[in-house]
Amino acid sequence: MKILVLNSGSSSVKYQFVDAKDSVVLAKGIVDRVGMNDSVVTHERYDGDKVKISAEVLDHQTAIEYVLAVLLSKNHGVIQDKSQIEAVGHRVVHGGESFSESVLIDEKVMDEIREDIELAPLHNPHNLRGIQAVLKHLPGTPQVAVFDTAFHQKMPPRAFLYGIPYLLYRRYKIRRYGFHGASHYYVSQRAAELLGKPIEKLKIITAHLGNGCSMTAVDGGVSIDTSMGFTPLEGLLMGTRSGDLDPSIILHIVGREGLSLAEANTLLNKHSGLLGISGLTSDMREIISEKKSGNKQADLAFQVFTYRIKKYIGSYAAAMGGLDALVFTGGIGENSPDVRAESCKGLDFLGIKIDDDKNNLTVSEKVISAESSKVKVLALPTNEELVIALDTMRIVESAQRVESSTKRSSEVEHEKANFNS
Ligand code: ADP
Repeated sequence: MKILVLNSGSSSVKYQFVDAKDSVVLAKGIVDRVGMNDSVVTHERYDGDKVKISAEVLDHQTAIEYVLAVLLSKNHGVIQDKSQIEAVGHRVVHGGESFSESVLIDEKVMDEIREDIELAPLHNPHNLRGIQAVLKHLPGTPQVAVFDTAFHQKMPPRAFLYGIPYLLYRRYKIRRYGFHGASHYYVSQRAAELLGKPIEKLKIITAHLGNGCSMTAVDGGVSIDTSMGFTPLEGLLMGTRSGDLDPSIILHIVGREGLSLAEANTLLNKHSGLLGISGLTSDMREIISEKKSGNKQADLAFQVFTYRIKKYIGSYAAAMGGLDALVFTGGIGENSPDVRAESCKGLDFLGIKIDDDKNNLTVSEKVISAESSKVKVLALPTNEELVIALDTMRIVESAQRVESSTKRSSEVEHEKANFNS
């Protein structure tokens, strides 16, 4: 089944066109700077053919038009007719408490995604716009929503409740939701496959370290705790986000600096994290190179970043009562031996021992722990798009089976009625 995977953000639409049966990416790309008059469409085909198109893409409808046009293009495309797109899978950031699994999109599902806008005002509106654009340009094509939050919906209340009046949970749904679900799911499954063990028997900690960073305790294949919370601001230090902090700090800063709540929100989301501490950059590659050339602030940012990862490793090992594997993924987790080594330093007592040579290998999927390490440590690329494509195929195929069996039984009923009359 050929599936278009869409990740519709505020100013970009990322896409992959995937043959889900064989897990092959036929084409992928991004429409960047959506909403501006100097947008760029970057498209790459499976055979390495690449094209960059300058355009004016003022909204998501137009972005999807460009995606379809480039997929259909004579010179750079991979399909001859829109009908070859058999289904569309959308990344939807927030599914609230309504969705613990991916779903076929209908009006009711769209209404619920709309209701969850108050939980993810920066993401869900754009995800919805992507869905509406597909409704317009590919009417009748089944669409599936795959939620970032769904994988974490099985967390027990002791992990998802905050220590505030319970009434606020009931009234405003304030609780831990967790994000990066497709990534934590994918790398935990892949780690179990590579280790040749059933995931049901494994206790795994996954660390997704990109511009946004989160860690998850995956016990027997189920997320039992995760570091991002009500929003993707909580937990680890990130590129520009603060992660965990004493809530009183916000009240204090608002008072001392005379900031509005919106400004405080921007401070914590856009000017904190690696950027805030280093005063230089949110980019881990630059932090590492500056630190190596003696920059003290860059070194501090690196220390805070890796120390916090270490604390979460300890706490999640405790939460699960043991640990079999630790997986690093995301741009930093996959590519930075320095971050992996520093985060695991001194954790021999937990059975974590990194092999420096393996850690420095440049192969994309690797076990980086020493032979003697009780806990297997892996660095893996994530593949959220594949999770979306596979879920979309599974859900659409099962809906088609139900539809054809319902059709068949109504035909049988009809034949019986004709026979009897
Ligand atoms: P996003 O969360 O936006 O998808 P990525 O997963 O691509 O982001 O991660 C981006 C981060 O990965 C940046 O901080 C970048 O510096 C970092 N990164 C990429 N390659 C390396 C590398 N070789 N060493 C250290 N950090 C890296």
